[in-house]
Amino acid sequence: LMTAFSGIQTTRRYLELPDTFYSHVQPTPLRGNVRLVHFNKDLAGEMGLSVDSPEDWAEIGAGRALLEGMEPVAMKYTGHQFGMYNPELGDGRGLLLWETQDPDGRIRDWHLKGAGQTPYSRFGDGRAVLRSTIREYLCSEAMYYLGIPTTRALFLVSSNEPVRRETIETAAALVRVADTHIRFGHFEYAANHLGPEAVRTLADHTIGYHFPDLAELPAAERYPAFFGEVVRRTARTISQWQVVGFCHGVMNSDNMSIIGDTFDYGPYAFLDDFDARYICNHTDQGGRYAYNRQPEIGFINCQYLAHALSSLIDTDDLRRSMREYETTYNSVFPALMREKLGLSGEAEDDQGLIMDTFSMLHEHSVDYTRFFRGLSTLPSRGPGPVRDLFVDRSVADAWLERYERRLESESLTPEERERAMCRVNPKYILRNYLAQQVIEAAREGDYAPLDELLTVLKQPFDEQPEYVRYAQVPPDWGRRMSISCSS
Ligand code: AMP
Ligand code: MG
Ligand code: MG
Repeated sequence: LMTAFSGIQTTRRYLELPDTFYSHVQPTPLRGNVRLVHFNKDLAGEMGLSVDSPEDWAEIGAGRALLEGMEPVAMKYTGHQFGMYNPELGDGRGLLLWETQDPDGRIRDWHLKGAGQTPYSRFGDGRAVLRSTIREYLCSEAMYYLGIPTTRALFLVSSNEPVRRETIETAAALVRVADTHIRFGHFEYAANHLGPEAVRTLADHTIGYHFPDLAELPAAERYPAFFGEVVRRTARTISQWQVVGFCHGVMNSDNMSIIGDTFDYGPYAFLDDFDARYICNHTDQGGRYAYNRQPEIGFINCQYLAHALSSLIDTDDLRRSMREYETTYNSVFPALMREKLGLSGEAEDDQGLIMDTFSMLHEHSVDYTRFFRGLSTLPSRGPGPVRDLFVDRSVADAWLERYERRLESESLTPEERERAMCRVNPKYILRNYLAQQVIEAAREGDYAPLDELLTVLKQPFDEQPEYVRYAQVPPDWGRRMSISCSS
């Protein structure tokens, strides 16, 4: 189905699936005054959308208007939450609105998050609060500009409709775009509740639209190749999280994108001071999703997916692909860490150097981002920015001595190395205290700080001297903030 919308091609690929995979649901309009909080002009530009009057989008965000061709559905999926299977999941507050085609042919889903109740809402009110939509908006854009696969955020509206969480907050809604919103949990739903035919239908759909290179393979190779590719992408994305110091916080299998995007931003955090066991989700008391457990949890989620695909792929092939998780992780993670350290050649003890660096950062609670950025600018700024991060300077000095010795066997000039390292070690990350400041301003109706923070996060590797305050470590109130899962 293709309809024209001021020159935009639209499609409804997801609706080609059997209707057991979704329910038609109309958005429940937000009450009260609705305001456009932010419109992502850069993304809209990529998508070929006209942005003459972004305010018109507020009506769509508020669920008060639909464009011709939009046919909203709530997706059905299930999944493992904190290791326990939950058959009751699905889009409980989000609706797939339609799919549009970029001028270059790329097709993207539009998902309106906070659109009201659906058949899958369980006890929820179907709403999203301003705080959590701002957090998702900021982080998905931050990840994108860091070069990490992610969903994006197109626009965000707020209303004064009250919403009850731990306190009374206000409702907001976010349009998220992604190449697809199909999750691992879609496959778990098909396998556990619909049967092998539905698994095959969903796999064919996913491969045909989202892994088109594999579609031509004979069936005996196509499905294993698909699973292998999902495993590799998942391992790759999670290694990028580890490298940048990102904690997702809720790595349930319904929050795992089948194309390897970082997906569903809730109580996430970027590490400030490095803590390998950091738990960002205040409700995750056992630390299942702690920073240092993320790689293993990604593996477990791939196992859930393997189970869901077991009617389609034989056990040996599933096992073989599962082994690729570790292989991929163990090649991508060290390669990226070597880049962060500016090591272009290989030396015998590099692995040891990487491990010891993490141990030191952990033991001395050193700011992770500032450490690597400081290391990057050693040639031009000297050791000060690194040393200043340590209470005990002698620890820094001993480490720097070892590092300098290692650099002697490098062939790049210091200037070349500095340039290369500044391209991979961000100066600006989305620290939780920065998000919190923006949220507090937005609650007062001031959206300028949100806009400014987004501007900074779009060039995380640039010096941007006028914005240096955004590179500061958190003030005391903003350290290790406990972020609630409620959103
Ligand atoms: P999450 O923890 O954000 O991944 O959400 C888990 C499940 O709960 C998903 O099925 C969501 O759609 C659903 N959910 C979360 N918040 C709400 C809400 N306020 N109302 C209805 N469903 C919700
Ligand atoms: Mg979710
Ligand atoms: Mg969520």
